[in-house]
Amino acid sequence: MAFNVDHIRKDFPILSREVNGHPLVYLDNAATSQKPQVVIDCIVDYYSNYNANIHRGVHTLSQEATDKYEEARTTIQTHFNAEFSREIIFTSGTTHGINLVANGFSSLLTEGDEIIVSALEHHSNIVPWQMLCERTGALLKVIPMDETGVLQLSAYKEILSEKTKLVFVNHISNALGTINPVKEIIELAHDVDAAVLIDGAQATSHIKVDVQALDADFYVTSAHKMCGPTGVGMLYGKEIWLNKLPPYQGGGEMIKEVSFEKTTYAGLPHKFEAGTPNICGGIAFGAAIKYLNSIGFNAIKKQEERLLQYATKELLKIEGLKIYGTGAEKTSVISFNIEGIHPYDIGTIVDKLGIAVRTGHHCAQPVMDFFKIPGTVRASFAFYNSKEEVNSLVAAVKRAKLMLQ
Ligand SMILES: *Cc1c(COP(=O)(O)O)cnc(C)c1O
Repeated sequence: MAFNVDHIRKDFPILSREVNGHPLVYLDNAATSQKPQVVIDCIVDYYSNYNANIHRGVHTLSQEATDKYEEARTTIQTHFNAEFSREIIFTSGTTHGINLVANGFSSLLTEGDEIIVSALEHHSNIVPWQMLCERTGALLKVIPMDETGVLQLSAYKEILSEKTKLVFVNHISNALGTINPVKEIIELAHDVDAAVLIDGAQATSHIKVDVQALDADFYVTSAHKMCGPTGVGMLYGKEIWLNKLPPYQGGGEMIKEVSFEKTTYAGLPHKFEAGTPNICGGIAFGAAIKYLNSIGFNAIKKQEERLLQYATKELLKIEGLKIYGTGAEKTSVISFNIEGIHPYDIGTIVDKLGIAVRTGHHCAQPVMDFFKIPGTVRASFAFYNSKEEVNSLVAAVKRAKLMLQ
């Protein structure tokens, strides 16, 4: 079926509301996506019809909930092409997944080991590693980027060595939209036997990720950026790595046998899933993935590329407007400033016109420091955004500029 954005917009009830007397123009998709009716229905259906705790009860509701939850795990496994469903760990989101791995590596690293991150990271992919370094005495090294917001692979090759144990890079930068050459980064890390974690929070809504083709050791993402609910996400880990890591949290569900003398842990994936999980969220995550696949990732990519190109062209016509992140490989994120105007002021005025953009450092202060700016205005587009919405954004930014200069 041909891609028709007007048709697709009807799947998202929130897109028909007004904000400050204007039709909502939602351009903060890099922070969180909107939810289609099928995902909302899935949540209502769970609580209306089969809410029960999973993996514990013999009763029918518990069985139904368990089946749906495990079905969602399989949907996620198939979508990301993991070899086994037990390699998919449900988490509360990207941040949780990263912390789980960082914590696990505490017992695998020693003083003098090195770990590498990129200059383009979200705080959630910096701070846990700094904490890991403090605990273990390992050293943190950084892959630098150039003026266009592209990572410098030549510098990466120089800091990689036999001492490197881990490399952590995001697949796509949330601050600039740069798509990083993760396959190459992984290959080079594997040459020195280092493990690689890819933060896919910003990638999985735009591209269909194949963890085996990438040969990633760990891959994390959040459902809420992929049309799913907040508070749920996934950690993919190769089985050999997940078996090496100790459990992150102790509690119910993650044990085999417990006595006061000794406790043995459950196998994968339950070893990492202590306590009652976000059952409804996990099931709705599966529904969101099915929805995205029903649109098709090729169609999604085409529409987002159209919007990116058009918006870039139109915004650059505004005098004094500068876009940060101009690498050839990028997704539909435009981070910009207008000379002499604070990004917050632009964000406030366009909101009065119904337009939702992000302003600030986007949880990536090192990126802002690199460009010597306090922050940017970030417009991030999803496949359900339209060309008319780009026009509204451009008109609103022009108006803000007139008012503020
Ligand atoms: C959103 C985001 C995160 C954090 O995701 P949470 O859902 O808040 O845990 C991490 N990294 C990147 C690149 C992101 O865009």
